[in-house]
Order: sequence, then structure tokens, then C-alpha cells
Amino acid sequence: MFSLPPELQDFQARVRAFAQQHIAPSASAIDDSAQYPDAIHQRLVGEGFMRTIATPATGSLRFLRRAILIEEVAYASAAVSMIPMVNELGCTPVQLFGSPGQQSELLSGVANGSLFASYGLTEPQAGSDVAALACAAAPDGPDWVITGNKSWICNVRKPGFCVVFARTGGDDTRDALTAFVVPTDSAGFEVINAEPTLGLRGSPTYNFRLNGVRVPASGILGKPGDGFRIAMMTLNHTRPAVAAQALGIARAAHDAALDHARTRRSFGQALIEHQAVGFMLADMHMRIRAARHLVYEANLLLGEKTGGDPVASSTAKCFASDTAMQVATDAVQIFGGDGYSRNHPVERFFRDAKVTQIYEGTNQIQRMVIARRLATAVAQT
Ligand SMILES: Cc1cc2nc3c(=O)[nH]c(=O)nc-3n(C[C@H](O)[C@H](O)[C@H](O)COP(=O)(O)OP(=O)(O)OC[C@H]3O[C@@H](n4cnc5c(N)ncnc54)[C@H](O)[C@@H]3O)c2cc1C
Repeated sequence: MFSLPPELQDFQARVRAFAQQHIAPSASAIDDSAQYPDAIHQRLVGEGFMRTIATPATGSLRFLRRAILIEEVAYASAAVSMIPMVNELGCTPVQLFGSPGQQSELLSGVANGSLFASYGLTEPQAGSDVAALACAAAPDGPDWVITGNKSWICNVRKPGFCVVFARTGGDDTRDALTAFVVPTDSAGFEVINAEPTLGLRGSPTYNFRLNGVRVPASGILGKPGDGFRIAMMTLNHTRPAVAAQALGIARAAHDAALDHARTRRSFGQALIEHQAVGFMLADMHMRIRAARHLVYEANLLLGEKTGGDPVASSTAKCFASDTAMQVATDAVQIFGGDGYSRNHPVERFFRDAKVTQIYEGTNQIQRMVIARRLATAVAQT
């Protein structure tokens, strides 16, 4: 059994206790109301947990620590785990490419709860295909002016900033994009609507329009043309966080199913005594154990080397999210009719698990990343 370094065991115990006491009891209510849990966000700030994700990207255990935070919060509520996860997604380009001034202003704002961070890559016609990005920025005096639409962007709240990726010239996508830090209260920054989603209710995801938004040149991350590399490097760092979220959801679904299978009886015995059910639980158990190793490995590798290992990041994200979906589906099955009821949490795990196979690159895209590396580099297994 993989064992965490002692300092992380203490951290895990602290987050777990916090999540079970302050998040789990309201998880169903958050899902029902689909309201952003402001009070829990402030508690996460108060406990110093937002500082865990909004710090300069140093320290070999830093990424494993954030994975544990996200896994334990997701075990209690996947929607609430979006608070550290998506703020980290918005902070990561700043951590990796921001100037000292950008880092100190933006990261400390997220850590102390006075700023919301978001990551604006996806557009209505460009999700998996980043090269199809149409949002454009042009220089105008000391500023840049950004025009275009972004879709499916989490956490676009005020006061806050969105790292917006826009086309700034050049035919080769790898040099054609630039990353801008755009305050969400900028003139011309227009939120169109929030998507009515299947799961993660309580973590709103927005479509917005940039109507000639002016950003000073000092709002560029890195330099003009670095945007594609910043976007990809960010995802290498944050896919292992999605993997941790998926692991938390899978564990929650497994534990609920196991409890039910031990107590519910049919044909004179506990459900788990029926081999067909027992084997489902054995498969869940095996997948979760394997996922945990991949998740921890990918996060440890990030701490050892900037960018980590993209194959390890994609492998962990893909395997853990496929695990979450399979385990949650089987958990619904083990609950029978109750699994289909809003009165039991497994249907929420089922709805929440699905998105982990879609965002930060669908699992088809993760398999493409892995396959391309296998085709061009020495395979390391
Ligand atoms: C709840 C939620 C939150 C999100 N939050 C954010 C956010 O904060 N910021 C952000 O920038 N984005 C966000 N996204 C967007 C997300 O990253 C995209 O939805 C995802 O990358 C897929 O893009 P798409 O929806 O355009 O699907 P498409 O790219 O249209 O893909 C549709 C289907 O085709 C498959 N496909 C596409 N191309 C290929 C190919 N070459 N080979 C094989 N299969 C392929 C895909 O795997 C998928 O199954 C979020 C999405 C959701 C659902």
C-alpha cells in the first residue's frame, strides 16, 4: 500500500476531518440549490487551504498536497472541490509564467479569498481543437484589445481574473496565441449565461463575451506568442488535479455501495454475498487502488520537474476519471431502484463523475497525448 510522507498524512487527516464536518452535511443541499457555496469558500480560505493551491509552484510535495486537498474535498462534494481545483487552474499560468508582481497580487488575492481565478481557453467552436481558437487580440497604443467569445468557463466571478487565451498573429498555432490576465470587471467583459449542467451543481460554468476589452501590456503572461505553450503546460499541471477529484468521487461511490451491499439483503443474504455483486465491488476496489497510485505518481512527478511527465498526467487523468465513471455507474446498480433516486447520493456521484472524462481535455484527447508520445519517444512503463 502506498503510504504518504508523515507531513502529508497529517494534512490528509486535517482536510478529511474538515470536509466531513463542514462540507459533507450540505453536499446534497448545494446540489439541489445549485447555489455557489460562498460560506464554504470562506471557510476553505480560513483554514489556509486556498493558500495550498495559490502559492508559487515550488516544493517537491506541493502538487501531492493539492491532490490530497482536492481528493478529500471531492469525496465530500465534487462541486465544492471545484473551488480549489478551478482557482488553481486559473492560478497555474500565473505561477508558471507570471512576473513577480503578477504573482504577488493575483496569488495572494486567491489565497486570501479576495479574488476568484479562472482559465479561459474553450470557445463555442474550439474545445479539443485549440488551433481553432477565434478570440483575437490586437495592440492599440500601450494596451491590447481583445474581442471574442469564451464558453464553458468555470468560476468567472467578481472580483477576479480570467487567463484568456487569444489569437495575436502567426499561422502556426504554437506561436499564434497569447495569454492575458483579464480582470472579470473590465469594461466590455460580458457574462452571457451560466450553463445548466448535468452535475457539479453549485459550481457555475459560464459563457462570456469580450467586447473590445482593453488590457495593458503588463497583463500579458510570458510574452506575446507564448499562449499555446502556457495553455498546454498549465494542463499538464492541472490534469493530475482532475485525476485527484475523480479519485475522491470514485471513493465516495465505492464506500456508499459497499455499505449498502453489506446491509441490504436479498434472497436471505447480504447483497455482497452474491458473487455477482461481490465481484463488482472487487473490481471497484482494484480500479481505485490502481487509480490512487497513478494520481499520486503524476502529482509527485510534477514536484520533481516543471511540467512533470505529460504522459503520467494524461494517464492519471484518463484512468482515474474512467474509474470514477465506472465505479459510480456500478454503485447506482448496486443500490437498485434507490440508486435512481435523488434521495440517495449515488446518483449525484454518477452525474458528477461524468465531467471528469470531459474537461481539461476529453479522455480521447488524453489517449492521443499518450499515443503520440509512444509513437515518437522511448516508451517508459
Ligand atoms: C463543466 C465543465 C467545465 C469546464 N470548465 C472549463 C474552464 O474552466 N475553462 C475552459 O477553458 N474550458 C472548460 N471546459 C471546456 C472543456 O475543456 C471542453 O468541453 C473539452 O475540452 C471538450 O471540448 P468540446 O466541448 O468543444 O468538445 P469537442 O472538442 O467538440 O469534442 C466532442 C467529442 O469529440 C471528441 N473528439 C474531438 N476531437 C477528437 C479527435 N481529434 N480524436 C478523437 N476524438 C475527438 C471529443 O473527445 C468529444 O468526445 C469545461 C467543460 C465542462 C463540461
